[in-house]
Amino acid sequence: MSGRISLEVLTSSGRVGAFDRALHDAGSAPLCRGSVSTVQINVGRVCNQACLHCHVEAGPQRTELMSQAVADRVLELLSASPQVETVDITGGAPELCPEFRRLVVESRRLGLQVIDRSNLTILFEAGQETLAAFLAEQRVHIVASLPCYSESGVDAQRGHGVFEPSIRALQLLNSLGYGIDGSGLTLDLVYNPGGAFLPPAQAELEEQYRNELKQNFGIGFSSLLTLANMPIKRFAHALERDHQMADYMALLEQSFNPATIPGLMCSSQISIGYDGLFYDCDFNQMLDLNIRPRSIFDVSSYDELAGAEVMTASHCYGCTAGSGSSCGGALLD
Ligand code: SF4
Ligand code: SF4
Repeated sequence: MSGRISLEVLTSSGRVGAFDRALHDAGSAPLCRGSVSTVQINVGRVCNQACLHCHVEAGPQRTELMSQAVADRVLELLSASPQVETVDITGGAPELCPEFRRLVVESRRLGLQVIDRSNLTILFEAGQETLAAFLAEQRVHIVASLPCYSESGVDAQRGHGVFEPSIRALQLLNSLGYGIDGSGLTLDLVYNPGGAFLPPAQAELEEQYRNELKQNFGIGFSSLLTLANMPIKRFAHALERDHQMADYMALLEQSFNPATIPGLMCSSQISIGYDGLFYDCDFNQMLDLNIRPRSIFDVSSYDELAGAEVMTASHCYGCTAGSGSSCGGALLD
């Protein structure tokens, strides 16, 4: 059904099949999904920001959003998929999709954990005045982007003026109990590097974030998740522009760590696009690596997608470099 693709979609460096050879040498080829415990739903490309490293190339000018009919089917399949435990909603700014709140409420009604991948500034957009309270009431797990604890670091990557409302958003979420011990409301922060290098050790960076955010802004949070920049879309364009693509790919390849393979997110999740098409992960989605069965209208349960071979290419080195990287942060301590 699926299989491997030419890496030429990503780079002209001639590394066709290199990731698969690395998997093979590690005794882990082919890469296959186990049971589907997480369904990640990308509800659209519309965003109130346009960050430098965005692998979705999201922004205010994008128009793609999940329709009511697709959301209906997504929910129908969730109720028919006993193996699924978590619904992970991403975008764009997922909260801008008109179906967002219904997806949250109905998923929670099914007893599922729900993750909202938030850019924080969305809390202050017009029409989102009740968003923070809604998320708290539904006990949604918030995973929020904050690539630095300094204004210059955040604004350089996410746009001028983003740091200040991000800090205000974290303070608002704290006031509702998010990130506060014993509240049961989880607020994780996401760091990604400001350039063509790997994230530092997650635990050490978390300690720095904790100290800086507490001392300077009185902010608390649950955990820090470190993610590697994937060499695709907007970050890939920046690498190409700055003639850094070959060096960054070499760094990822040289940092290949077989110990990360069992934790790769594609081994336990499926990704759904705003139009209902299936992918192995959000990165593959942005590269149009559609799998079979192709769509939510071709199956009767997400459980049917268990056991299938994952489509891999050289960007997968971004998940296996060093301590590994996933939407849940580093794969190894
Ligand atoms: S990285 Fe997140 S906040 Fe930034 S443009 Fe992309 S989707 Fe929007
Ligand atoms: S990019 Fe990462 S999560 Fe996606 S298929 Fe490759 S290894 Fe798996």
